Amino acid sequence: LVSKKWKAERTSIDCGDGVFIKEGDFAIMAGPCSIEGEDNIKRTIDFLVKQGVKFMRGGVYKPRSSPYSFRGMGMDGLKLWYKLAREAGLKIVTEVMQVSQVEPMYDYVDIYQVGARNSQNFNLLDELGKVDKAVMIKRGISGTIEELLFSAEYVFAGGNENLILCERGIRTFENASRNTLDLNAIPILKDKTHLPVVADPSHGIGIRKHVEAMSLASVMAGADGVIFEMHEQPEKAFSDGQQTLNEAEAASLIDKMRKTVALR
Ligand code: PEP
Ligand code: MN
Repeated sequence: LVSKKWKAERTSIDCGDGVFIKEGDFAIMAGPCSIEGEDNIKRTIDFLVKQGVKFMRGGVYKPRSSPYSFRGMGMDGLKLWYKLAREAGLKIVTEVMQVSQVEPMYDYVDIYQVGARNSQNFNLLDELGKVDKAVMIKRGISGTIEELLFSAEYVFAGGNENLILCERGIRTFENASRNTLDLNAIPILKDKTHLPVVADPSHGIGIRKHVEAMSLASVMAGADGVIFEMHEQPEKAFSDGQQTLNEAEAASLIDKMRKTVALR
């Protein structure tokens, strides 16, 4: 069902208020790795509104490699964020980690993110097939393109066609970067499916100073959007500070991505 052979026209995701994710309408999603509190939310919102960015990313449920790391603000954080984001007209992209969170989160999210670690959590994918809100599925840490498509198939077959695919880097033998952003996946996915494809260069390379280069490369590879991490003080971020842009870097990247989109 996610194949172009099944559906010829490209899927367009309607996020409400005239905001879409679709080919030809490049989407920028930015925000902290983790939602950290009221000041952090407000500061990010002010920045994004000034930049004309419509999607704010951030985790309130964080899949951390170590159980002792910050694991997110949970529903209280999400509700506060939702209130402030709605006042500012921003859409929320946030990770759902388990089946039991799908329903409580429903009223407070615009795009449910399925993280790399949950890319093959088939129970979660089944559950997300029953909702009518957009779902963005990240590629598994060691997931093939075909496996990502099968994950999407679960949600689509369950009845939810509001799907976005995300290339976020895979684990390879290379350890000079956190992951290896598979730029190849972007044109391949766009060729195989009718779904929008978003790139996540922050997790893809994991090194702040190289996020810009990989973002622009993703744009030229045909991505329909880019999701990246930013923070007012990356060195103080609760998670993923090493790959998080500051406001000046984020502003510069947004400007360059828009100019790059115009070139393709
Ligand atoms: C994130 O977006 O912060 C995240 C945890 O991503 P991933 O699932 O790709 O590691
Ligand atoms: Mn992160």
